[in-house]
Amino acid sequence: MTAMLRQKNYDKAVSAGVTVLTGLASFLDPHRISVAYADGTSEEVYGEQFFLNTGSRPFVPPIEGLENNHFVYTSETLMEREELPRRLAIIGGGYIGLEFASYFANFGSEVTVIQDGEAFIPREDAEVAQSVLDSLTARGVRVLRSTTIRSVREESDHTVLSLESGDSAYALEADAILVATGRRPNVAELNLAAAGVALTERGAVKTDEHLRTTASHIWAMGDIVGGLQFTYISLDDFRIVKSNLLGDGSRTTENRGAVPYTVFLDPPLSRVGLSETEAAQKGYTVKSARLPAAAIPKAHVLRQPTGMLKVLIDADTDLILGAHFFCAESQEMINLIKLCMDAKLPYTVLRDGIFNHPTMSEALNDLFGAVK
Ligand SMILES: Cc1cc2nc3c(=O)[nH]c(=O)nc-3n(C[C@H](O)[C@H](O)[C@H](O)COP(=O)(O)OP(=O)(O)OC[C@H]3O[C@@H](n4cnc5c(N)ncnc54)[C@H](O)[C@@H]3O)c2cc1C
Repeated sequence: MTAMLRQKNYDKAVSAGVTVLTGLASFLDPHRISVAYADGTSEEVYGEQFFLNTGSRPFVPPIEGLENNHFVYTSETLMEREELPRRLAIIGGGYIGLEFASYFANFGSEVTVIQDGEAFIPREDAEVAQSVLDSLTARGVRVLRSTTIRSVREESDHTVLSLESGDSAYALEADAILVATGRRPNVAELNLAAAGVALTERGAVKTDEHLRTTASHIWAMGDIVGGLQFTYISLDDFRIVKSNLLGDGSRTTENRGAVPYTVFLDPPLSRVGLSETEAAQKGYTVKSARLPAAAIPKAHVLRQPTGMLKVLIDADTDLILGAHFFCAESQEMINLIKLCMDAKLPYTVLRDGIFNHPTMSEALNDLFGAVK
């Protein structure tokens, strides 16, 4: 399916007059790149302007025994494994690690997530994070917190992780290890120094809010910029650059509106806006409401009554500050909240609006009806 879409996009681009060169690009100077092809040949391309959009790749931490271990995978390679691992160890309790934990628990693997910190998904609202942890635990996923991986050893038919937590050291056997410790911008091969493009301290391409790099004829979009790593942010970055090249330049990274996101667990966790702690830190007087997913008729129709919904409202203006939905179909519902936030509609619009039945969205009547 993805391959078909890629081909379709490729065909569309070619018919629109775009020349697609499939090779590795690297700057020679501010206006010339070299494109190296798989057959060993290369060519030089001159450009008045450049648009960098090279994405990111998994970061593998320097843990002894991870490199060249046959049982070690990243999010890009684990899906290519043909056999289901009976025991899967996941290094990293971030969003990608948890998505894979959820998939493989559903497939039937025994999943252990190992994270060095104590707090579970610390950027999420604490109550909602606890609900996610309870749900994963109930599905058999073990989450080892405040745990350090000292080394990894490869045996003939499995691998062994040496773990340390507090004063205790112990071994964990696994048939596969997924390394999910973050992604880093793909800048290494681009030779950006030759083009005068600077990097941030974290190794992303430095841009202003219009996505212009430190070289004024070069722009950067997507994961390479080091912000939120989502497909639709890469797409929206394009709108910002387009607004600068062809429009009035008014669209920037600062005014693109609320950005929703979903972590595809089972059920999915979707969020837009502030958590309760962040709202308090920003000085808002907050009203809030919660609803268990089990109170929603459609959740029972879907046989997915797990999870909870929580919203935060600015008590002074009745505007929505944040929404955190850990429930079936939350990836669709959250877009509705984003729209209300961007349009600056008071929460009462959702509390009193008519929704069709049976849907998950109709729960917004009850959820916002409970605001206090
Ligand atoms: C496991 C996983 C799950 C995800 N789930 C979601 C999700 O549910 N929803 C969502 O919105 N996002 C999701 N993301 C994030 C999303 O995939 C990325 O944010 C998005 O693909 C970034 O787009 P991009 O345009 O920056 O780069 P990419 O889509 O990564 O494209 C970059 C391209 O540039 C090429 N390239 C790199 N260097 C060079 C070079 N020197 N020369 C030539 N070509 C080069 C790369 O090979 C690649 O083809 C997920 C990511 C992962 C890893």
